[in-house]
Amino acid sequence: MTAQVRYDVTDGVALIRISNPPVNALSQAIRQGLIDAFEKADADDDIGAIVLMADGKTFPAGADVREFGRPRAAPILSDVCARIEACTKPVLAAIHGHALGGGFELALACHYRIALHDATMGLPEVNLGVLPGGGGTQRVPRIVGANAALEMMVTGKPISADKAAAMGLIEKVIHKNLERAALASARNMIAQSTPPRPTCDRREGFDDPIQFSEAIKSWRARVAGNFVPSLRCIVDCVEAALLLPFEAGIALERQCFDDCETGPQATALRHAFFAERRAAKVPELEGAQLRDVSTIGVVGAGTMGVGIAISCLDAGFPVTLVERDDDGLTRGIARIKDNYEKSVGKGRIDQSTANDRLSRLNGTTDMGRLSDVDLVIEAVFEDETVKRDVFQHLDKVLRPGAILATNTSYLDIDALAATISRPEDVVGYHFFSPAHIMKLLEIVVGEKTHRDVVATGFALAKKLRKVPVRAGVADGFIGNRVLAAYRLAADFMLEDGASPAQIDAAMRAYGFPLGPYQVLDMAGLDISWARRKRLAATRDPDDRYVAIGDRMCEEGWFGQKSGRGYYVHGHGLGPVENQDALAIVEDERRKKNITPRHFEADEIQQRCLNAMANEGARLLQEGVALRPSDIDVVLLYGYGFPRFRGGPMMAADQRGLLAVKNALLSYQPEEPKFWAPSPLFDELIKNGRHFSDLNGD
Ligand code: NAD
Repeated sequence: MTAQVRYDVTDGVALIRISNPPVNALSQAIRQGLIDAFEKADADDDIGAIVLMADGKTFPAGADVREFGRPRAAPILSDVCARIEACTKPVLAAIHGHALGGGFELALACHYRIALHDATMGLPEVNLGVLPGGGGTQRVPRIVGANAALEMMVTGKPISADKAAAMGLIEKVIHKNLERAALASARNMIAQSTPPRPTCDRREGFDDPIQFSEAIKSWRARVAGNFVPSLRCIVDCVEAALLLPFEAGIALERQCFDDCETGPQATALRHAFFAERRAAKVPELEGAQLRDVSTIGVVGAGTMGVGIAISCLDAGFPVTLVERDDDGLTRGIARIKDNYEKSVGKGRIDQSTANDRLSRLNGTTDMGRLSDVDLVIEAVFEDETVKRDVFQHLDKVLRPGAILATNTSYLDIDALAATISRPEDVVGYHFFSPAHIMKLLEIVVGEKTHRDVVATGFALAKKLRKVPVRAGVADGFIGNRVLAAYRLAADFMLEDGASPAQIDAAMRAYGFPLGPYQVLDMAGLDISWARRKRLAATRDPDDRYVAIGDRMCEEGWFGQKSGRGYYVHGHGLGPVENQDALAIVEDERRKKNITPRHFEADEIQQRCLNAMANEGARLLQEGVALRPSDIDVVLLYGYGFPRFRGGPMMAADQRGLLAVKNALLSYQPEEPKFWAPSPLFDELIKNGRHFSDLNGD
């Protein structure tokens, strides 16, 4: 036995407890300890039943993250599960907290299960590009059939204790004192000579083999073509549960697990998992004192202000929303109410929750009402003069120590901070639209921003359930800078012969939910137009400039909101290419004497990806991004970069940095400045390093 697996005996019941805080992850020491403990209990004639529980806040919530992607030291989880299942005495799992992944598989190997009422259970392995590898694919369908088993494993969504009981995955929901209930059940089993009930021998899920096979067929069709191969493996393994002997099914599951775990998708998904955790660690946290944030002000009740206010209300904060006039305020508040009405209508929240949230909202046109708030998030027009006025007003009104955050997309936060008396309290909180839904929050640290203000931003992000990433001051910070490079690469191809639909299709085929022109149509072409106009004065006249977007905006084609953009919208047939936009494209080609050429999807993808990785490398060199994985997190959570590709920097590592640099060099004659490889490529290549070597852990 090991220190992390405890063994006690009461009234002929062996109580085996896992103790590996914080989440009782199933490390090698735990696995070995469990085998030893079950051997001991099984061999002891004085033991009549065995209970498996965990200390602390949860039943094991999964594998040990330190073992992800590495060969597991013996015994592996499926050996532990096999040993538990083979016990000659009844084994009861008593679940609390979150029995997830390997934790739930451990429980499934027990003969009986009870759970505390607020426990959840699930098999979320698919989120890391793998599949249950401890027998889950074989045991769940034996109990609940193919459809419910696949729902659990393909979606990876956890289920509640009540649902698990209704499905037959657990025998009973316990409302209090789990240990007492578990020991009572075990004593009962001894008294009634309840036999062991190995899940591998159960067949309830196979009662209707035709229904089982139909479910397999329908889920196979659902996952066909998905980029993540473990989804298809899950369906194959569940099918094998019906068709093959248990041991053969387990062998298939192991083979699939090993194949998927070493594949590029699982590698990228693991990277995304660790990248998100790493992004929360920033140098400013050291020695910082968190400022108290109990009340929040939001200035501007437009698209972003409304979303930010909802996000803060959802997290339990009182919010004072300030608009410049009554009409704007009424519109903003109506949108917030509408959001909550819809949430109630869809059953996401109940009416009393909606009422509570709305009761914490105060609307006003008087900035003076912000005098006692702890933090203000400004989301007024993207206009330097308007923002400066608002900041100067806030400077007069806010209490000392209050934080002034701006949601600007591009403007210079240092310049804004310099116009007020307390630049150390100024920070950028760059939310993404819709702000109450999108997870990303870029925390933009200005030259003078105090570390306490940065640390408070990261703490607030956690309360708002956002994924925070630190960015330095730069035009567009991390995300919009990379996005601009992506769009420019696409625009060059558009002018050189590709069509918007062709470029969009290529990027969807790579895994983006939408291509760059679909996104432009959705977000509004006028936003990037405003940026181009702002930068016009400082643009190098020798740089290649693609004027197609400007000409479309001059026609009033702003995308979905105006019915026309790169596509024509609103005729009920889905987006159709805008022929008039294509005529502008052709006209621009003529003006520049460009003979259009053909682009294969692969070239479109490579050019866009190489542009993004190159811009990411520049951001690293400029110190705007702390680490390559932070850039990945921004693109994954804010811009729809496919998670199974890991982000643009990870994807560049997977393509090989030399190949990326050579591709950039090959495009460079077309546009010397834009395609010039960042010197970081050479630095890394000559030392045999990758972007991932700069992530610092
Ligand atoms: P918007 O035009 O929808 O809303 C701006 C609101 O600010 C308007 O309701 C306006 O009446 C109000 N306002 C203007 N001056 C004011 C003042 N002095 N006092 C109080 N209210 C005032 O704009 P938006 O899309 O919500 O963008 C707001 C900010 O967020 C901008 O800086 C923008 O760059 C940034 N941003 C926008 C997005 C996006 O996708 N829309 C994403 C991230 C960041």
